[in-house]
Amino acid sequence: MAKTYKIATIPGDGIGVDITDAAIQVLKKLSDASGSFQFEFTNFDWSSKTYKERGYYIPEDGIEQLKKFDAIYFGAVGWPDVPDHISLWGLMLPLRNSLCQYVNVRPTRIIPGTSSPLANCKPGDLDWVIIRENSEGEYAGHGGETHTYYDNAVATDVSIYTQVGIERIMRFAFETAKSRPRKKLTMVTKSNAQRHGMVLWDRIFNYIKKEFPEVETDKMLVDAMTVRMVLQPSSMDTIVATNLHADILSDLAAALSGSIGIAPSSNLDPTRKNPSMFEPIHGSAPDIAGKGIANPVGAFWSAAEMVEWIGEKDAAAKLMKAIETVTEAGVKTKDLGGSKNTKEVTDAICAEIGK
Ligand code: ATP
Ligand code: MG
Repeated sequence: MAKTYKIATIPGDGIGVDITDAAIQVLKKLSDASGSFQFEFTNFDWSSKTYKERGYYIPEDGIEQLKKFDAIYFGAVGWPDVPDHISLWGLMLPLRNSLCQYVNVRPTRIIPGTSSPLANCKPGDLDWVIIRENSEGEYAGHGGETHTYYDNAVATDVSIYTQVGIERIMRFAFETAKSRPRKKLTMVTKSNAQRHGMVLWDRIFNYIKKEFPEVETDKMLVDAMTVRMVLQPSSMDTIVATNLHADILSDLAAALSGSIGIAPSSNLDPTRKNPSMFEPIHGSAPDIAGKGIANPVGAFWSAAEMVEWIGEKDAAAKLMKAIETVTEAGVKTKDLGGSKNTKEVTDAICAEIGK
């Protein structure tokens, strides 16, 4: 009997819908080709459109419903008629927080057939995994606004860092670095200016690194890090940073690897008590939504990360190979300098999986 994995899909908004459809098509093809497992998809229509109709993104029992799944596949959230902080805090952040997905893994490399906007940056020169702290820090949601109705409004956003939160992300980052050939971890902070939480990051990094003597380490301030990513991309491998810093660095990383449409992300609960969630790093891209031209590679790469996480390593490798074969053959969307649309790239990858 083929094993069945239950996958919750939340396409969300804009191109999230296009690329989730494409990912489901590719995943079905992958399970058919394997014969040893299958997916059972359940769709959740939580989006900015349903928020406007119902007044909420996630129904009261929504998190409980999701807990029954083996994994969650997420498209994108955000639409111009809902303020971004409402949509992010209405859908994405409650999912990450309630499902204890405290790690966000964002790999970036130059895949075959694509190129970096950096002159002289060859494939292999840029091969990073950014480990983003996904549960606290600048995204703690703590703060408020006062004096709003006068002309001297005051607003605060308090970053919260906990020893438990920092230790668990550091250990995950060190384990990731240890598992990769170069065994190198760069920690990013802003501990010169943010003199409490970021200094705690430094301190915890310094004692956890003693548990991982085989991992080479260095530390960077986030501003200097952006320069190093552009000028010396090959000098880094695994990178660990806070929720906000890593969000910004991973958009930069994706752009440096060729397009924001390529990069995947995994929101993980490493304890495996809750389902983990997989999504491309790009957003809903309203400017190209519904046109059928979104690059689905980030969605497929995210799907490959999901397949790997649930334990089907051979199938995950097969999907990555199919993606790379197709991009190398020049079947690419416009953002990568190609002329194909979402469907053409998806069909080509399905055909490759079927070979
Ligand atoms: P978010 O706040 O959700 O991160 P964002 O405002 O940062 O979203 P994105 O939606 O990620 O922005 O997109 C930024 C731009 O990049 C889009 O306007 C679009 O032109 C381009 N883009 C993003 N994703 C893709 C994709 N998959 N294929 C092609 N172009 C894309
Ligand atoms: Mg963004």
